[in-house]
Amino acid sequence: MPRVHARDDNSPEPPARVAEDMLDAAICVDGGVQGLYAHIPFCAHRCHYCDFFTVAGRDDERSDFVSRLLAEADVVLKQLPAGIRTVFVGGGTPTHLPVQSLQELLLGLRQRLDAGGHQLEEWTIEANPDTVSTEVADALASAGVTRVSLGAQSFHEPALKMLERRHDPANVEQAMSRLRGVGITDLSLDLIFAVPELSDPLGVWARDLDAALSLDPKHLSCYGLTYEAGTPLRRRLDRGGVVRVAEEIEADLYELTRTRLASAGMEQYEISNWAHPGHRCLHNLLYWTNGNWWPLGPSASGHIKGRRWRNRPRLGAYVAGSGLSAIDSVEHLDEDGRAGEMLMLGLRLMEGVARERVTAACLTPARGEARKASIAQAIEDRLLQWADDRLSLTSEGVLLADSVIGQLL
Ligand code: SF4
Repeated sequence: MPRVHARDDNSPEPPARVAEDMLDAAICVDGGVQGLYAHIPFCAHRCHYCDFFTVAGRDDERSDFVSRLLAEADVVLKQLPAGIRTVFVGGGTPTHLPVQSLQELLLGLRQRLDAGGHQLEEWTIEANPDTVSTEVADALASAGVTRVSLGAQSFHEPALKMLERRHDPANVEQAMSRLRGVGITDLSLDLIFAVPELSDPLGVWARDLDAALSLDPKHLSCYGLTYEAGTPLRRRLDRGGVVRVAEEIEADLYELTRTRLASAGMEQYEISNWAHPGHRCLHNLLYWTNGNWWPLGPSASGHIKGRRWRNRPRLGAYVAGSGLSAIDSVEHLDEDGRAGEMLMLGLRLMEGVARERVTAACLTPARGEARKASIAQAIEDRLLQWADDRLSLTSEGVLLADSVIGQLL
């Protein structure tokens, strides 16, 4: 009988046992585990705005890290029933691994997935544009990677410099052409707007969008720069050493993104994501639709039917350890929490949430009534709308998404 505990209390439990419990839950969950995420924390440099778990200057640990991650994948993939459809290798900068280690990692994962009978529909890896050599492109293609998400961020050198990104704008086109040359055509670019200290933020962003579109990516992720707590950039902001782009300008930048990408035939399917038909990111859609996925590596987060957890973000302890990653914390949402979370994630999608799910979320014991009233108010304020029996954000609501959605939790 699988051991499944609700971790909604604070009772102490050895981390290894918690991880085993999560795996037991994953093995028997309805609908199975559909996604696998592997976190590769190494970067050449830690950019000052980044709040992901990354390490720079520890390159000599990369090879041991890959062996350790494959050992962890062994434990998981020998036990999970077949059903994984998407793999996402993120970071960090996975392509900062030496080619030989990258090859070992990807072929090792591929072999274990094949042995488990998993039929992948999508395999994404994140890469920085200056790391995609022909050898790296070959390694990705030969392991069966289908999709690459490139951290382009901007094509304007002062913006890249402000973000502490070290690549040259020309590296993006070079990387895309190398990837296309080995048959990987499902390419996405990450771009950042509202970068401070630029004299003409709207002009820079319009040119960035045009430069990105001229390279014909299948997918674009466009984010406003955020000042996350604990980052050097945030400390600089708090000291008055940098001035944020004004909110109204940020709203104009976002509007410009929506109109420019729509006129280029790209469909917005999520608050920050656009794709040509047939090229949405299936792995990220799992996150927004409450799918089940398993996390490998330090700081990676997982979700199995209302249980969310994060692996401990410690590289040294991870590499020295064995078996499943130690887990830092597990959140086990009750019915009410799950309903709020379903709305929070589902409303990020432009297609919104089906009426029957909204109705169910308004019948939960603790917050159901209040949620129903908040939805009615947001509809009256033209921030939410019903269309085709689905509840979704309006164009005005998208601009205020965080506060609109925050009312519904
Ligand atoms: S390269 Fe990406 S993951 Fe690495 S520190 Fe910079 S922003 Fe973070």
